[in-house]
Amino acid sequence: MSEPPPTAGRIVHYVSHGTPLRSDGSQAFPPACRAAVVTEVDPTDPGRVGLAVLNPTGQFFHPLSSGGSVLIESRSQVPGSWHWPERA
Ligand SMILES: [Zn+2]
Repeated sequence: MSEPPPTAGRIVHYVSHGTPLRSDGSQAFPPACRAAVVTEVDPTDPGRVGLAVLNPTGQFFHPLSSGGSVLIESRSQVPGSWHWPERA
């Protein structure tokens, strides 16, 4: 099952970084899927997009000019990457 290429305005998941690692390697808040709106798509690399990330308590922008976000399949849960929302 392949997904279509992203376009501006599509809603995707952004994997948050979570809170910093503690000395024992644990995290108070581990990486999590967050809703994000695609704001721009790299014309030479359609897997790289700019995002407006909607966290539960705030939002931030991750534009292509700052590197954007790359597509990595959802089960990998790589912080800073995006993927199409899982089908429940
Ligand atoms: Zn997800």
